[in-house]
Amino acid sequence: MSLFKRKNQPSGVANSAPQNSLAELALVNIHDGVIITDRSSQIQYANPSAATIIGQPSADMVGLDASLLLKIESIEGRELPDNENLLLQAIRTGQALEGYKVCLIVSQGAKRTPVAFSVVPVNDSRGSRIITFRDIAKELAEEGEQAEFVSTASHEMRTPVASIEGYLSLALNPQTATIDERARTYLNSAHAAAQHLGHLFRDLLDVTKLDDGRLRPAFQAVEMVGLVKQISDQYLMQIREAKLSYQFGSTDPSLDTPRRIDQVVYGYVDVNFMREIMDNLLDNAVKYTPAGGSIYVNVIGDGDRVLINVTDTGIGISSDDLGHIFQKFYRADNSDTRTIGGTGLGLYLVKQRVEAMGGRVWAESAFGEGSTFYVSLPRISGEEYEKRKIALNKVQGGTQ
Ligand code: ADP
Repeated sequence: MSLFKRKNQPSGVANSAPQNSLAELALVNIHDGVIITDRSSQIQYANPSAATIIGQPSADMVGLDASLLLKIESIEGRELPDNENLLLQAIRTGQALEGYKVCLIVSQGAKRTPVAFSVVPVNDSRGSRIITFRDIAKELAEEGEQAEFVSTASHEMRTPVASIEGYLSLALNPQTATIDERARTYLNSAHAAAQHLGHLFRDLLDVTKLDDGRLRPAFQAVEMVGLVKQISDQYLMQIREAKLSYQFGSTDPSLDTPRRIDQVVYGYVDVNFMREIMDNLLDNAVKYTPAGGSIYVNVIGDGDRVLINVTDTGIGISSDDLGHIFQKFYRADNSDTRTIGGTGLGLYLVKQRVEAMGGRVWAESAFGEGSTFYVSLPRISGEEYEKRKIALNKVQGGTQ
């Protein structure tokens, strides 16, 4: 069915409508690809740019199932199983999607074009979904160049900053230098600032590694409850020093006893990414929870997802800040946070790593009452876990 079909116009012909409406003029000339499906994912319309990007005439697309045509993989070139394919999920369930960056496999699999997809569900009798997508190859290349510049600059600046920090430490050490009290106050401030700068360069290097494409997730099949417990337990000392209590296996702070975890949950993740994610969430939970508070960590299997939560009873996040905390350099500014150090890059890194593994991260919080950070990652079955383990052993055996 053509979008602008007039009475008696044969169906299955897209783009042949007369250019008598401004809306149609826009659709036919716009650079973004536009595809409209019904609720059963069948393509009803495709504009000329969709045809150009996909490499097939619009008329041939009409009537096809969108999943046959819109084959995608991650920007890094990783195959996306159905439970990670947010585009197909949005089309099937009629959920909105915005700016989903993936590679579109076009020209019968011969070519990959990086695109950003959006899906807007329409409340009409057909249950239409409007899918728009644009070529982002140039955008990605520019982002990569920018990230490479920031990364090189951070790397180069780390050495002189470490040297400044070292000399300031010497100046502040009574065994190596004699200074008066006023100079000590100034040098203490300079030392704290040099340390902050050092953290900033370290965090910047970490986030740009993924942005400029130098770092790709090394996936492996792992049992997630054991992995997350092992990482979290390493925080015991730090948690005790901060005078906080800690429970692994509990989601709800109102639960008195920890929920026993006897579930075995498998995931296909990068173990180093998991460490970085948990480190940042646990660091924050400790940092933003005053003495006497509690931290709860849990992992459960939730359908085809692995759901991890890091919960604290700390200072919480206001609803105004909650929508921004995963942005680069964002720090909530209030009387509680002002005295707590940080770079505002930790949660950006968490989001970046989680998304590179096909997952999602979000937070729920009430100001003054505490926060829960959720990480949802694709789950694999026990059989899939065994299969991937055997495959890995074979590869490792073969290379020895
Ligand atoms: P930072 O280095 O400032 O901690 P993050 O990116 O890790 O940077 O966090 C961004 C902001 O989100 C923090 O500055 C803080 O305001 C808020 N935040 C993060 N985690 C928590 C938490 N567990 N409790 C309260 N606020 C938090």
